[in-house]
Amino acid sequence: MDQQSDTAPLSSAQGTSAKAVRMSPDTLAVHAAREDLRQLGVGVPPINNCAFNPLPDVDIGGASYDALAAGVRLGNGQSPVYRRLWAPNAARLEQAVAVLDQNEDAVAFSTGMAAVNTLLKVVADTGNRHIVGVRPLYGGTDHTLARGTHGVEVTWATPTTVRSALRPDTGLILVETPANPSLDLVDLQELVRQANGVPLAVDNTFATAVLQSPARHGATMVITSATKFIGGHGDALGGVISTNMEWAAKLRAERAIAGNILSPAEAYTLHRGLQTMPIRVRAQQERAQRIADWLAAQPNVAQVHYPGLPGGDPHALVGEGRQMSGPGSVLAFAMRDGYHAAIRVAHSVHLITHAVSLGGVQSLIQHPAALTHRPVEAPAKPDGGLLRLSVGLEDAEDLIKDLEHALTE
Ligand SMILES: *Cc1c(COP(=O)(O)O)cnc(C)c1O
Repeated sequence: MDQQSDTAPLSSAQGTSAKAVRMSPDTLAVHAAREDLRQLGVGVPPINNCAFNPLPDVDIGGASYDALAAGVRLGNGQSPVYRRLWAPNAARLEQAVAVLDQNEDAVAFSTGMAAVNTLLKVVADTGNRHIVGVRPLYGGTDHTLARGTHGVEVTWATPTTVRSALRPDTGLILVETPANPSLDLVDLQELVRQANGVPLAVDNTFATAVLQSPARHGATMVITSATKFIGGHGDALGGVISTNMEWAAKLRAERAIAGNILSPAEAYTLHRGLQTMPIRVRAQQERAQRIADWLAAQPNVAQVHYPGLPGGDPHALVGEGRQMSGPGSVLAFAMRDGYHAAIRVAHSVHLITHAVSLGGVQSLIQHPAALTHRPVEAPAKPDGGLLRLSVGLEDAEDLIKDLEHALTE
């Protein structure tokens, strides 16, 4: 394989979508960042494991190093130099996610948390170290903000108190919608109005680019834990932030120093997973709706949190398609008898796996207060009776039977 053509940048981050008419996400997911494969004479992207690349000469090497260290995408005639600076498989995933997210560029990290923490470092380096965190957030994100990683200082807000939480040194607003684990929905356009020009980062892991495009509603950055729906099979970790060229360059420059770039094998696996994400997301969503309907009718279930149920979408963000095109496939439900009843359900399922993570083909159930949201401080900690269920691709009736016996155990 000709090394240069494999590592050369694809035309632009908008490659596939640069056509006159924007193609459907289904089509983009299959083809994005694969436009050069025919020319390379291969059917799928080669996994490029090179740790280093032979330098044509010292001048090209030095100029390439400078550009990559500054966060610029690899240019024609440049050398990738070293894989911590530029990794072809990670670059493909970035390009594909940028296209699907409708953003200019994207940067891929070893995990979702690596993405979040690198963003915090970049924000802290701007001098505006104050961050407004809209709770609830994923437990890891909540924890890293609360402990002040990289010297950031957090003010917790609700979707309606963001404006009053802003300070002259606020560098970022961070929100999740739907939120983990409560499935709360936040009106992004309303949040952008309150933000008053402060950059807004939206964790879009639960919705994915299939159901929601935060960039279209004015978000500056879209954070995705690729470990979840993009990979979709529970066998790869990764995180991606899609954004404009300016923020992407800062993130890439920081990543080059922090050393948390996505590995070739994980990038390959996640890029492959992305191809089936649209149909997986919709099929899982269909099953989740049926399970949510069923759970809502169970006497020992106090409440089901799911945007597809009455009351689950108070601002009509899904119902009228204003922000999301569907409710997704993650739901949470509270057991009437609290903690012990919830734990019993998690221990009694057979088909559903008692495990953290979400978004994959196999259904997973977990207890947020004990696991994913364990480090969250008291007022924001999820209720002890709450369970989070990520609905996979198993038959809905089989899943309901499994829950039925676990709920009555
Ligand atoms: C899992 C998750 C993360 C963290 O991603 P990792 O890949 O596990 O580091 C961040 N945000 C949300 C909403 C998540 O579900």
